[in-house]
Amino acid sequence: MKSLLTAIIIFVFLSENSSAQMPEAVNASDILLRMKKLQVLGSVLYIAAHPDDENTRLLAWLSKDKLYRTGYLSLTRGDGGQNLIGDEQGIELGLIRTQELLAARRVDGAEQFFSRAYDFGFSKTTAESLKFWDQQKMLADVVWIIRKFQPDIIITRFPEDKRAGHGQHSASSVLAHLAYSAAADPKQFPEQFTFGVGPWQARRLFFNAYRFGNFSTVKEDQLKIEVGGYNALLGKSYGELAADSRSQHKSQGFGVSHSRGNATEYFSLTEGEKADSSLMQNINCSWQRIPDGAVVGQMIDQLILDYHVQEPYQSIPALVGIYKKMSGLKPGYWKDKKLKELVEIIQACAGLWLEATVNAPYAVKNLTIPVTLQVVNRSPLEIRLQSVNLNKQDTSFEQSLLPGVNYTYLRNTSLQGLAISQPYWLVDNMSAGSYNVQDQTLIGLPQNPPALVAVFTIRISGELFTFQQPVIFKSTDDVKGETYQPLTIIPSVMAYPNPELVVFNDTTEKHLNVSLVTAPDSILEVKEKYLKSIALTKVPGFQIKNSPSAPNEHHYLLKSVIHTNQADGIWVTRVLDGSLDTLVQKRTITYDHIPRIDYFKPSKSTLLSVDLKTAGKRIGYVDGAGDKVPDALQAMGYTVVKLNENSLTASSLQELDAVITGVRAYDVHDWLWGKHEILMDYVKNGGNLIVQYNRNLGDDTTGIGPYPFKITNFRVTEEDAAVRFLQPSHPVLHFPNEITDKDFQGWIQERGIYFVQRADPRYQHIFSMHDAEDSMKPEQNGSLIIGTYGKGYFVYNCLVFFRELPAAVPGSYRLLANMIALNQQKKK
Ligand SMILES: [Zn+2]
Repeated sequence: MKSLLTAIIIFVFLSENSSAQMPEAVNASDILLRMKKLQVLGSVLYIAAHPDDENTRLLAWLSKDKLYRTGYLSLTRGDGGQNLIGDEQGIELGLIRTQELLAARRVDGAEQFFSRAYDFGFSKTTAESLKFWDQQKMLADVVWIIRKFQPDIIITRFPEDKRAGHGQHSASSVLAHLAYSAAADPKQFPEQFTFGVGPWQARRLFFNAYRFGNFSTVKEDQLKIEVGGYNALLGKSYGELAADSRSQHKSQGFGVSHSRGNATEYFSLTEGEKADSSLMQNINCSWQRIPDGAVVGQMIDQLILDYHVQEPYQSIPALVGIYKKMSGLKPGYWKDKKLKELVEIIQACAGLWLEATVNAPYAVKNLTIPVTLQVVNRSPLEIRLQSVNLNKQDTSFEQSLLPGVNYTYLRNTSLQGLAISQPYWLVDNMSAGSYNVQDQTLIGLPQNPPALVAVFTIRISGELFTFQQPVIFKSTDDVKGETYQPLTIIPSVMAYPNPELVVFNDTTEKHLNVSLVTAPDSILEVKEKYLKSIALTKVPGFQIKNSPSAPNEHHYLLKSVIHTNQADGIWVTRVLDGSLDTLVQKRTITYDHIPRIDYFKPSKSTLLSVDLKTAGKRIGYVDGAGDKVPDALQAMGYTVVKLNENSLTASSLQELDAVITGVRAYDVHDWLWGKHEILMDYVKNGGNLIVQYNRNLGDDTTGIGPYPFKITNFRVTEEDAAVRFLQPSHPVLHFPNEITDKDFQGWIQERGIYFVQRADPRYQHIFSMHDAEDSMKPEQNGSLIIGTYGKGYFVYNCLVFFRELPAAVPGSYRLLANMIALNQQKKK
């Protein structure tokens, strides 16, 4: 009895901490919940635009209370959002948010899907979003996912009009509406039918109305559903599950508190048959919906009645009986889904632990690696391990698994034929607004299938079952304890250039190093070949001198032959092998709340030749929520001194020509507010403080600049919006670089965010601009304000330098240099 209790406690602990990688531990109440879910043949697909748009309370209720197969289709991976936990932007942020969304789904029990749409940042109109994404391509993806998932009902988060507030939001609902009909139309996207799907007509399309502050789309004539219930098997109400799920969006700072008690959701019918009592009204979600299914339903009823919470293994004979009955049904969607669920329940009831691990996080393509297999039968039943298959290599065991005995085997496994672990949406070059994926069957998946899978064939109660376990990297950390992380397959050679951005503002020579990382000695030939043949591509406008040094280090001296700020002044180098393939480098992103992320990017450096003059030398930088501005400053030739709570002092500031705060520094560092007096004294004595944008501070800016201003959520999202110069003679436009319209060419994603309003008259507004959408409204003049204070300058900048500098946009370098030079004019 005592040992049983211990086992249950451990199960609970494991399920609370389970990461994506770990073999799933299922406790006795989870098993009961899964048995009940076996009875439900209904499915719901929720559709919106971004990770974090989804209604996690509704998803938790649909999945854990109604026990429907529940899915969330986020059109994008949230690549264009902001990052509150690090400096990753764009596709890297998309990789992080993909994992955060998967972490959220592990809490609320729904499944996750994505289209190929790229989140290009805030958009004011549906039309802009659909154009940028390529409407037909995205419609094809939504149709594909509907045809595969076969939802009974589809629910959109947003209305299809301007009330959605963001062009990508309204566009997600427009696409869902179009796809609702298109998925059922055999003439639409018929090429998909060769991949195992057919036309699918969902029964209803709803819009999940909401209240947000003073704004409401809720109406009393809408379908009302109470979703605030409590699930005793989980010990949680759906509001609590929802909060745990939503709090996984850590990169967005979306930690929320638990809500308990009643909560009503509102649904407005967009298409399909009227429903006044429930979402699934008149849709049969029992086993009677499929031919000969009724008897299976009866068997499951009996299974649940006979379930022994302390001895789940006693259900196995009945489960095997149901398995045989289900296997005899006609082929179909529900048969496949339920058989899969059933096999998982059998494994859980037997307490059958199956694990396949490696002792290193990385394995080189095509090599052979040792894989440890662990099998434990934690039930008194007779169970036999028949065989294990690893990458098409079968090992026969014919081992009877005695209760409680830990069987461990080591198998050398060849990785022959397995590709490097590049996320599938990054394999091909992307289009402006969407990813490109050749393999139709991958589209919609949240991430790659595991690099290597162990398939265990096991005989239980006379019947053969197969169980799949991804091969994972297992290790034990002194602090974190046992950890599971993915296994990543890497190429035999990788090349790392340093730096990745070289800025030339004259003909001075600059250094570039390329370090090669090669696989172990076992493939010496490959290594030799690469070491001999590595070279930079010829780049027009630059001289490259190769001076080989250490065997794994290639050192180059680069010199700009011409330097201009033409838009074509950005040059890219590639490292090539004999066959002219571009080598890749591995990028790894680690955060505690998600599994390790690896991806590969071309080994290249951007060479930017720009007509850039600078004044001032030493810059203090206060890191904010994460940006790559300091790298750009260094590439421009400045010395960057990092400032933190301890090092930002009156005396340390004396030696600095300017101080710059990273994006949202005042949002993330409370201590920075306490430095106001020191910073203002520094400005008064001739210093220069440049503050990059913050948000959510409203009127509370008295602790930032010398005079008040208000921070709003106004932004200009069109990266080519015309920019008017309001103060044509201001030094920031003339010294040391002459700023013209040309400096606003070639920008990416947007102009600026969280603009300033109602600034004190002692500030000067430098620019005004607006999106075409807002052409009837007054122009926004709060992108950049500058004020003098004593002998120095205070600059508040909402232009998105944190995006433009890493993208090597010449104008952003020239304008930033002028901001830094404001207090250097007298010294010229
Ligand atoms: Zn959104």
